[in-house]
Amino acid sequence: MYRLFLVVGLLVLLFVVLKSMYRNSKQAGRPARPPLDGDQMVQDPVCGVFVPRKTAIVRQVGGISNCFCSQECAAKFQEQRTS
Ligand SMILES: [Zn+2]
Repeated sequence: MYRLFLVVGLLVLLFVVLKSMYRNSKQAGRPARPPLDGDQMVQDPVCGVFVPRKTAIVRQVGGISNCFCSQECAAKFQEQRTS
């Protein structure tokens, strides 16, 4: 009778350990927060600096929208393209 309790106890312990391991692996595989569109980082092609999309200066050059950290970089890029 005592052995039966021991076996059941071990099985319960094993189940709890496996359950917590499964939960941990599930949390690790999932990103903490889905990236929002405004939080997306874009690279300035002129100086190579990464800027958040919502604060970037966006210029349409040759049908492609380019993002810049400042008006100066945007002007420089357009200068390079036209010259
Ligand atoms: Zn820049």
